[in-house]
Amino acid sequence: MSRRVTLVSRPQGMPQESDFTLEDAEVPEPGSGEVLVRSLYVSVDPYQRSRMSQARSYARGLELGDVITSQTVGEVVKSRDPRFEPGDIAVGQLGWQEHAVVRAGVLRKVDPQLAPITTALHVLGGTGMTAWFGLFDVGRPRPGDTVVVSAAAGAVGQIVGQLARIAGCRTVGIAGGSEKCADLRELYGYDAAIDYKNDDVRAALKEACPAGVDVYFDNVGGAISGAVHSRLNIGARIPICGQVSQYNADRPEPTVHPGLLIVFRATMQGFLVTDYVSRFPEAYPRLVRWVADGTLRYREDVTDGIENAPRAFIGMLNGENRGKALVKVADPS
Ligand code: NAP
Repeated sequence: MSRRVTLVSRPQGMPQESDFTLEDAEVPEPGSGEVLVRSLYVSVDPYQRSRMSQARSYARGLELGDVITSQTVGEVVKSRDPRFEPGDIAVGQLGWQEHAVVRAGVLRKVDPQLAPITTALHVLGGTGMTAWFGLFDVGRPRPGDTVVVSAAAGAVGQIVGQLARIAGCRTVGIAGGSEKCADLRELYGYDAAIDYKNDDVRAALKEACPAGVDVYFDNVGGAISGAVHSRLNIGARIPICGQVSQYNADRPEPTVHPGLLIVFRATMQGFLVTDYVSRFPEAYPRLVRWVADGTLRYREDVTDGIENAPRAFIGMLNGENRGKALVKVADPS
């Protein structure tokens, strides 16, 4: 048998564990061109919250009874495609379940010699690519710029700050709590850290950004973003990566007055990492090298057991994850 987590009710506001259920299912058999994968780690991400609602979005929402969508890294058990064989490690959109059958073409092989396999779910996967293209393509940082990042200690934010520092920028991270702020300074090399739960964010930004803000990598929206907008420099770029402070709200609040963009001749641009898939090879080899030589550092926050994935998800939305939120499902054989 194989266990899986499905959606039983659409969350109203913050999700509850009762919105999910753990089910038993038969282990499926792969057909021609398909692969059976046993999950080792599943990812826990803010976008999953939007998939649980019926609001219009860039991807189809979940129906009640569907397995929660997620990136998963796992081990191939059976393959009916020449590209994979049992024992291979692969990553794909397999969901919160212990086993999944997928078409081989949507799986990517992971080389366990390059880096720990979990990195395929963050720095060497979606969130690393989000950081790279959001910062370099949309934020267009120049050496000497001040780059401010919100949710800076999270999966995307921890990489954005380090890439901006490599690009010669002053980096200022905003995160919740003193432990995360210590990580910002000591682990990810941010020049300054602002604890939005305990500091006066406006005053702290004034001190941390004496030359104003050239790039604001926005992961959160809401009041934090409002405070950063008031310190923009002329020509500032604002990649809108996420708005996690609004994901549980029935009616998300607008966080910027368009007039502000005129005052600062600033550019605000939403982006989606999936639009950059064909360009991942530009970033991947450098990310691999920087992870291998220790230039890029990361922290993972691993919860044990597929049955605890809903708890990990709710915890992540509450800011309890210190690093990339993952759930360990099984050990490799
Ligand atoms: P993450 O930062 O590892 O985890 C989410 C974090 O959001 C929490 O740890 C919490 O950190 C913060 N948060 C939650 N509620 C908040 C609030 N009300 N105000 C301020 N911060 C709050 O998650 P991630 O995967 O790296 O994602 C970060 C953002 O990037 C999300 O908005 C996500 O949707 C977005 N994203 C976008 C793309 C894209 O293609 N555009 C791709 C991946 C991710 P604190 O403890 O610091 O509050």
